[in-house]
Amino acid sequence: MAEGVAYWWRGRLHSEREAPPLAIPLKLVKVEAVEWLCPRCGVRAEWGPEPRCPRCGARCEPRTLVEEVPELVDAIEALERAFNRACKARVRGAVLLEPFSPLLPLFTWKLLDLELPDGSQLVGVYAGKPRFLKRGFHNGSTTTFELPGNLAVIVWSGGVVECLVFEVEEPQKLVELLSG
Ligand SMILES: [Zn+2]
Repeated sequence: MAEGVAYWWRGRLHSEREAPPLAIPLKLVKVEAVEWLCPRCGVRAEWGPEPRCPRCGARCEPRTLVEEVPELVDAIEALERAFNRACKARVRGAVLLEPFSPLLPLFTWKLLDLELPDGSQLVGVYAGKPRFLKRGFHNGSTTTFELPGNLAVIVWSGGVVECLVFEVEEPQKLVELLSG
């Protein structure tokens, strides 16, 4: 991966050379954008119905330019790409935890606070087999439920908490890199 790829980490883009170990590789896509420039002093105006120069007040003129912006990927895809940079990793499943899930995690995750490119928040990580308590609805019975995999990642997104599960070669290494 060289040209046309940037590495996303904590809201910032890096080149491959300076990217932290778990920075997320994102393709750069070309998009057309319009900017408004003052014909007198060349100052860029804020977008508005009739953009005016913030310096001299002249009416600004539109100019089309091509910008490169990182592609949009969801949390599970972003994490799979990031983990694969450090060791072999693949997605094994995802379950909803809050607010409407009958599943209760039977593991304690390490707290984290890491923003992902789609705006969701990585709030926890656990190295081990993710097991859950499945609460009965009518008769009050409980059973357990487990997902294949050895690394669980807890992601918060718009009021919903999800547990994403991966099978990775080196779960402890990834926990350390995520916490660093
Ligand atoms: Zn001006």
